[in-house]
Amino acid sequence: MANNEEVFKKIISHAKEYGFVFQSSEIYDGLSAVYDYGQNGVELKNNIKQYWWNAMVRYHENIVGLDSAIFMHPTIWKASGHVDAFNDPMIDNKDSKKRYRADVLVEDYVAKVEDKINKEVEKAAKRFGDAFDEKQFRETNQRVLDNQVKIDEAKRRLYSSLEAEDLEDVRKLIEDLEIVCPISGSRNWTDVRQFNLMFSTKIGSVTDDSSVIYLRPETAQGIFVNFLNVMKTGRMKIPFGIAQIGKAFRNEIVARQFIFRMREFEQMEMQFFVKPGTELEWFEYWKSARMKWHLSLGLGAENYRFHDHEKLAHYANAAADIEFNFPIGFKELEGIHSRTDFDLNAHQKFSGKKLQYFDPELNESYVPYVVETSIGLDRTFLALMSNAFTEEKLDDGTERVVMKFPPVLAPIKAAVLPLVAKDGLPEKARMIMDDIKSEFMCQYEEKDSIGKRYRRQDAIGTPYCITVDHQTLEDNTVTIRERDSMKQERVSISEVRDIVYRRIKG
Ligand code: ATP
Repeated sequence: MANNEEVFKKIISHAKEYGFVFQSSEIYDGLSAVYDYGQNGVELKNNIKQYWWNAMVRYHENIVGLDSAIFMHPTIWKASGHVDAFNDPMIDNKDSKKRYRADVLVEDYVAKVEDKINKEVEKAAKRFGDAFDEKQFRETNQRVLDNQVKIDEAKRRLYSSLEAEDLEDVRKLIEDLEIVCPISGSRNWTDVRQFNLMFSTKIGSVTDDSSVIYLRPETAQGIFVNFLNVMKTGRMKIPFGIAQIGKAFRNEIVARQFIFRMREFEQMEMQFFVKPGTELEWFEYWKSARMKWHLSLGLGAENYRFHDHEKLAHYANAAADIEFNFPIGFKELEGIHSRTDFDLNAHQKFSGKKLQYFDPELNESYVPYVVETSIGLDRTFLALMSNAFTEEKLDDGTERVVMKFPPVLAPIKAAVLPLVAKDGLPEKARMIMDDIKSEFMCQYEEKDSIGKRYRRQDAIGTPYCITVDHQTLEDNTVTIRERDSMKQERVSISEVRDIVYRRIKG
């Protein structure tokens, strides 16, 4: 897929034009980094949720679900570390008045230098042909080595300064790397300051300081504070997991990347509780299981990669991201973290309640360790949209835009189309529609020429169009048109439901 701003813009406008994603509060000029999902978007989103839920909860007998509230006791966010440490370092450019995440400016610089290295490697690969040894080239080419030193040094200094909370050095690093504001082109930067990402509001009718509560910045804490409830009532035995899908809120500093970085978004998280000492094995297990899930969507193995964290969050002893090749480049889609016993321990301390598991084999109690898988629903949506978006030139010289979603996730599975809106064809088509709509999401359309209707269904990614024509009235057969190949076959009406069902289940 092209790493291309133009393509990204096309996807954003397609998402709006075909009812996938709208800017929130658009008639009031929008609300920054908040989006609404339209009639097709909500179907796609629900299908992604179902696909994830089935993989996690339905297919794992030792994982159960949860739906915890967005509002939680404010002390939870003290215990989790979010009140004190859920900060991003921000910096402003005085000329453009634009605000940036200081760490992201440095990471973008690193990505640019990495690009230079990759171009150097590509050029050499072309020059040397089959004889090219990439490993040797990377280890010996002076320009590559010099650039690698720049990358290592920038990363080392960024992470050690952030670790030491030396924000002055982060600012100096930005100056030393001669990073300019992408808007103004200037190096006129403010100091770097910490910015807490949690939204707060007040609960109840008496508003004093004690009534401040937060909109949850992650769904995970709702799982931790229900650990005992679920373990006891579900009679769960370690290892076991609790999965949850829900909204999370972050007052992101930089929010200019469509649904990639939103202030209100949705997460699909699973916390897996394990025996202390086994967490790194489970971490590897979940890394590989989650990658398999992504690959099962068929978006192409080359579009995914792991990124192991060098700088670990305060609660983790191992962490990796699954990155996807979005049109804006390879970026985080899912995080897999070995969170140790940090959260349960902290909640024990702050709540005064024991959060332990009695292990009948060891005949002792312990605080379990936790491995977390946390995937952004909206980012998965964006990955699917970007991958599906295809512009095609057809043999007859016309063009079409087709969303090649995996059929199992497509918003509408089948469209039922009478060739013309007369001669009894609509009535026949309605009968088919009534028969199959209980099985999957279908759409009935009779307006405009059949060609136009096919294009509209292509544009929203409907895998099958079922067309009722005059022959249908004679022999009870219809045509089924497949979205990607545009091939049509004639089948008996009585087979339609089964055929579509089988193909969608794949
Ligand atoms: P980033 O580094 O991109 O800010 P993160 O490491 O803070 O992400 P996590 O806290 O690990 O993200 O959250 C888990 C997942 O939630 C991410 O992998 C991502 O898919 C999703 N996510 C996080 N922040 C946002 C956001 N602002 N908008 C949309 N999705 C998000």
